[in-house]
Amino acid sequence: MKISGVFWFCLFFPLMQYAQETQYNHVFFDNSLMEKSWFYGETSYTSPSYILNIQGRLPIASELAFTPGNSLQLNYSSAPKGSWKVNLIYPEWRGKDFLKKGNLLSLWLYFPQSISKEKLPEIAIGRGPELISNYIPLGEYITGYAEKKWIQVKVPLERFKGFTNSNGIRIVSLKQSPFDIGKHEILIDQVEIINETISTRKIPSPEIKSAEAYERHVDINWSLESIDEVRYVKIYRSEDNKNFVGVGVQSPDEFSRYADYTGVPGKTYFYKLSSLSYDYVETSLTESVKVTTREMSDKELLDMVQKASFRYYWEGAEPNSGLALENIPGRKNMIATGASGFGIMALIVGTERGFISKEEFITRMEKIVRFVENGDRFHGALPHFMDGPTGRVEAFFGKYDDGADLVETSFFIQGLLAAEQYLSKNNPEERNLRDRISAIWKDVEWDWFKKKQDSPYLFWHWSPEYKWHINHKLIGWNETMITYILAIASPTHGISPEMYYSGWASQDSIAKSYRANWGQTAEGSMYTNNTSYFGIPLEIGVGVGGPLFFTHYSFLGLNPKKMEDKYTNYFENNKAIVSINYRYCCENPGDFEGYGKESWGLTASDGPWGYKAREAKAEMDDGTIAPTGAIASFPYTPDKSMQALKHFYREYGSFLWGEYGFRDAFNLSEDWTADIFMGLNQAPMVVMIENYRSGLIWDLFMKNENVHEALRAIRKVEN
Ligand code: CA
Repeated sequence: MKISGVFWFCLFFPLMQYAQETQYNHVFFDNSLMEKSWFYGETSYTSPSYILNIQGRLPIASELAFTPGNSLQLNYSSAPKGSWKVNLIYPEWRGKDFLKKGNLLSLWLYFPQSISKEKLPEIAIGRGPELISNYIPLGEYITGYAEKKWIQVKVPLERFKGFTNSNGIRIVSLKQSPFDIGKHEILIDQVEIINETISTRKIPSPEIKSAEAYERHVDINWSLESIDEVRYVKIYRSEDNKNFVGVGVQSPDEFSRYADYTGVPGKTYFYKLSSLSYDYVETSLTESVKVTTREMSDKELLDMVQKASFRYYWEGAEPNSGLALENIPGRKNMIATGASGFGIMALIVGTERGFISKEEFITRMEKIVRFVENGDRFHGALPHFMDGPTGRVEAFFGKYDDGADLVETSFFIQGLLAAEQYLSKNNPEERNLRDRISAIWKDVEWDWFKKKQDSPYLFWHWSPEYKWHINHKLIGWNETMITYILAIASPTHGISPEMYYSGWASQDSIAKSYRANWGQTAEGSMYTNNTSYFGIPLEIGVGVGGPLFFTHYSFLGLNPKKMEDKYTNYFENNKAIVSINYRYCCENPGDFEGYGKESWGLTASDGPWGYKAREAKAEMDDGTIAPTGAIASFPYTPDKSMQALKHFYREYGSFLWGEYGFRDAFNLSEDWTADIFMGLNQAPMVVMIENYRSGLIWDLFMKNENVHEALRAIRKVEN
């Protein structure tokens, strides 16, 4: 398991510079996905002063907003001997690390009742909770004060001591004014760093390309002549085609679509769009389009989830390589190879389901294959991350990870081999692609990754400069089974089938302590487990069997029903792991909000405190559920997975459903939802739903003769 990845990420990522990456707006708050409180708005007070809060966080105001749908409620009581304060923390996530420079702190305020300027809070900025600048009276920057109207306040950054520019600003802090006594309410919206010099060029209006209604949401898709100077596309909804209300804004550099979750089937809506410039001047509205939501069958719901998640790899792909990004929004040039392999399988599903044509699929595969042929490979293996425009390795997880990643390579090859079988026609075009895919497969020197000739293990990384420095052995049970299967299957650089038992399923002392270290447990440290959890016997796996992605990543192509060794059948064993995870969430020993038979699935995902692998045990559970956990488990637990899918969409859709289907994860105890979709998590939903429905990807991958042979050879190994 790659726990260390998170660590490298934290350690090295501030040092890296990729000037060519798209820069994001430096926004502290525009809208909250959650309706109750703002996870990134930390409040504190000393009585007799008080600031209204929910679990220590600023409440959301959903009635009034400068940018729809909501704003923040600053509701406070100031007393001479007390104090209150709120820190708005910059919501940071993986790959959102390049920000536009600015010289002004801007926020929009709304005063429901009158308040004199000197009583207004004081404001500061900071690089961290202990690195806050001097506080400045907000009142000094109020011009054109008016009640019941949104007004913009702009504070030059140079007013804050120690700040000459916007680099590293991570906190906007507001606190009680020394001149204030009494109770006040202010609404705050659109807190961001902006630039004084705003272009006044006329911006284009969006054009609605399509509006599609589903059971409880509407997908609106648009085109824009240019996105350069458009701050937001604004979405308006009406029920009578007369009264249009702004329901949301979308950054056009992040998405060219908006998923409007209305929560009601069988209802007609009208939509219009406009563009907002960087100084919030609005264009005229488009003509309206009319759509009607409708009840949907289970089959239609599956189609809907597959199609939305498929789009991540289709329209969300990096344009030069045609491959998948690590997360969206996130780095726009950096492609992730493992997620891309999963994505290729999602593209196959999308073709079979009619989301794209076979010609479109072939064109995309042509682009992908060409990119890989010309991009960095090390002994035939691909890196974890690559720069899409150039094909060069990107050491996103730290300087030592600047070479091959054999596990990501195996995820990628798994997808390529499924595509090779799918391109089965005997015409020059498909034959050509098959040959080139086959060449990429044959180029991978799996045996090089043994490090030395008599090694019992494969190794995860190799770098031309740092060689075997990372020195991470591949030992199961985890997501690396597919790596051993493909290494054994390779017709050109294969390893012996004995390595399945000496490496992956090793029972030597090194493997034993490696496993014991994951969960500080002896259960399963010998690869075999043979313990029951919640009455469910588990034959192999460490502890409770690990995060659910262990039962997904290797088995998107590799049919677990046909994967057997001397210890278990992997369909049955995976089913046990998923059932344990389900039972754990039902019992919910951590007493987290929202856990139950309709809401379960602990796996690796984004979380309130960052990306982390979560498991069905108290010390590996922080209340975060990822929809991919339950939904990519469809082949193992179809009824329970369907129940979860419906619950996530029908009950949690207002915050959880977005442009590419389900957002990565949510944590109701913390009132938090991920803003992002992750490349590793969307495709497994598409592919595993399909494997449950038709077995398509399993059938394609298992047609590969080399894979077939490898499984036979493993079964023949006698220990
Ligand atoms: Ca807003």
